[in-house]
Amino acid sequence: MQDKQTNSYLKSFKWVYSRLQPLRIRQMWFLFFGMTATAFLETLALGSVAFFASCMTDPNAMIASKYVKTVQAFVGGAQVFSRKELILGSGGIMVGLILLKNSLRATVTYWIYRFGVAMEAYFGRILIEGFLKLPYQWHLSMNSADLINALHWRTYLGRNFFQPCLKIFNNILMVAIMLVALFIVQPLISMIVIVVIGLSALFIYKIIRTWIDAVASKGRNYQIIINKEVSMAIQGIKDVKNSRKERVFSAKFTQKAEPLARVFGVQELLSELPVLILETIGFSLIFFSIFIMLVLMNQSTAYVTGTMTILAVTAWKALPAINRILRNVTKVRHSLPYLATEAMYIEIIEDHARYLDESETKPLIFRNKIVFSTVVFQYQNNDSKILDQMSFSIKKGETVGIIGKSGAGKSTLVDLLIGLLEPTSGVICIDGIPLDQSTRKAWLDMTGYVPQSPFIYDGTLAENVAFGVEKDLIDSERVLECCRMASMDDFLDDLPDSIESKVGERGIKLSGGQQQRVAIARALYNEPEVMIFDEATSSLDDRSERAIQETIYSFKGKQTLVIIAHRLSTLEQCDSILWIEKGKIKRKGRADEILMDYRQKASA
Ligand code: ADP
Repeated sequence: MQDKQTNSYLKSFKWVYSRLQPLRIRQMWFLFFGMTATAFLETLALGSVAFFASCMTDPNAMIASKYVKTVQAFVGGAQVFSRKELILGSGGIMVGLILLKNSLRATVTYWIYRFGVAMEAYFGRILIEGFLKLPYQWHLSMNSADLINALHWRTYLGRNFFQPCLKIFNNILMVAIMLVALFIVQPLISMIVIVVIGLSALFIYKIIRTWIDAVASKGRNYQIIINKEVSMAIQGIKDVKNSRKERVFSAKFTQKAEPLARVFGVQELLSELPVLILETIGFSLIFFSIFIMLVLMNQSTAYVTGTMTILAVTAWKALPAINRILRNVTKVRHSLPYLATEAMYIEIIEDHARYLDESETKPLIFRNKIVFSTVVFQYQNNDSKILDQMSFSIKKGETVGIIGKSGAGKSTLVDLLIGLLEPTSGVICIDGIPLDQSTRKAWLDMTGYVPQSPFIYDGTLAENVAFGVEKDLIDSERVLECCRMASMDDFLDDLPDSIESKVGERGIKLSGGQQQRVAIARALYNEPEVMIFDEATSSLDDRSERAIQETIYSFKGKQTLVIIAHRLSTLEQCDSILWIEKGKIKRKGRADEILMDYRQKASA
């Protein structure tokens, strides 16, 4: 959504409305019907209050009034109503109408809130599904804190945007129907009320509008910066502490949090201000009308009292409704910059619809070999070719080592191999079938990846191994088997509850070697055909490295293994080695030959 569009409520509303599911659209029309009925009932209830008040003040005059006469004729009663009957009857009607309109109002209010949060959940799902399905390449160019913000800001589509829109519409309906009724009963006075209140509301809104816009954008920008700083400091706590930058980060937070607090204060004031101004104008208006009728129009006090009752009950209901309209307009305006951010992400997701389409998925069988043919790869935000005209193959069951200086392109190559990245040009084939949108998912299921720094989350060991599988659906036998294959027997014996022990942030802290073993067990859980180890032992001490190395080579011959390693000794048992230099293949051949040449070149 462009900036121009965000400036218009109607366009923003249409933008959201056009993305609603058919069920929600039907519900919304039901809701509008309920709102209209409530507004009519509200006006009728007001009339009944005014009527009841008049019956109490002057029952005799009311018995003779045209309203009572019409009712009498309608019920066919020849007898005249008594004063008692009139008061009790009008009181009963009033209570009945109030009961009915309040029940309907409660239902409508419940649905307005329900609708708002349901929309939040709906758009939240679109965002999280979209984010997770968008290509890895896209994630590399994004800031993770911004994406987390976007998920939190789904409230700016529901509770802070669509819900206030519904409330605005609801209150406009109520005020409009009330004013029309007032106009029928008291044309002159209602004209004055409509013109003065309408103009004041418009004036207040126009004045504070620019203020709201500036404050809302400021608030959003401060929040983006704060969230970034906080996630940077918490995620990088080790570096923060190590470089003794605690103060710098907390000062950065405070620098933005304090003005943000002021922004929130101004926002609260802006939403309260119209209420105060309108209340003052409303009551001044009532006094002014009394003045006109008594002094200029020379009306009787009885007439003035009757008119005042109608005006007062209308003001009693209409003024708060106008306040609610203004308050919700403020809220909607405040949410527009956030909505623009949400809209931007949702439109990105819509533009990448092909990644969301699961129907294309084709099965894949790996029997023979993986072939890279003239593969070129460039990152979106980087002009240079990271991989250039790469052609090679890996046979099923082969153990391939990848060597090359830091920055040569090894990790990028592996990301392409597992299907996380797509080649800029060239093709990767599995037994002659190109790895593309339709086969990528099947291929990802067939590959197991062990990174240098595995992600261990706050959960049980079993949950960490079966990564992402619902707790009830975890196959404990398989978890145990994978742990054994990852040589975790000793470690399991030491745990208080075996695979059900808590590990990660609020559980047992795992050593680097143990984390690697969990990552290996995780990679094994889905019975992969190809296992990839990306510098899996680089951050370990010599003993742990040797132990993990033994585990890795225990899979040799049973699975296809691709191993990136910094230390060449780790690769001596490989069948072949791929030597990469500046994104090109320098050599591929037998491990002993290539490693010898590589060592010679390194020492030269
Ligand atoms: P290696 O694993 O051999 O150390 P990488 O594959 O990590 O090398 O990186 C190869 C090159 O790609 C480096 O020059 C690096 O700067 C660049 N690169 C890596 N990741 C990204 C990224 N997300 N965006 C842009 N450039 C990247």
